[in-house]
Amino acid sequence: MKVLVIEDEHKIANALKEGLSQESYAVDVCYEGQEGLNAARYEAYDLIILDRMLPGGMDGLEICQILRQEAIHTPILMLTARDMIRDRVAGLNAGADDYVIKPFSFEELLARVRALLRRPHEALGETLQAGELSLNTVTKEVIRDGQTISLSAKEYALMEYLLRNKGKVLSKDTIINHVWDFDADILPNTVEVFITYLRGKVDRPFKGGQIIKTVRGFGYKIDA
Ligand code: CA
Repeated sequence: MKVLVIEDEHKIANALKEGLSQESYAVDVCYEGQEGLNAARYEAYDLIILDRMLPGGMDGLEICQILRQEAIHTPILMLTARDMIRDRVAGLNAGADDYVIKPFSFEELLARVRALLRRPHEALGETLQAGELSLNTVTKEVIRDGQTISLSAKEYALMEYLLRNKGKVLSKDTIINHVWDFDADILPNTVEVFITYLRGKVDRPFKGGQIIKTVRGFGYKIDA
């Protein structure tokens, strides 16, 4: 899952990047409104964390309004420094999905991030499943045939992304856009390499057949 953080306060932005990366999210940061707006327009994010107050003429409310007018419906979590009803309502009216008030605890923010990412997949709940494999998005536990599987952060992120899109064929580009951030070192075979690692852990040791399927010439998929 890939998150865009638009926040001019470097300390907060960098803390969010660090914390969310530890939770296996791919995170891009923009410290400036216009740059953030362009990133939100042209890259595929699963969630945007947007500061309400940004310097340089374009604030969070405006960015939110513009994105919604342009029919970009990526969930937006607004950060707001002012604990005023008026301000919160303005954010929601501008098209934000939720907000947190600064200063916030990382745990609170994370809970809201999870809730927003869950929304379109509500029926799936916290646990994603494919055959005998289950992945808990809160505890990060991956289990197949009753056996706990230990995955690296990137393998986990890839597995979660594949499971959230069960039944769809995902191209390598789509996978890169949602699982790796833009400062990541990506080689032409990065996705294949990680799919191989993942299969070595979730498929190869088990009987019951392959969960991660290759769709020749298109990409990968997990059968619904
Ligand atoms: Ca700010």
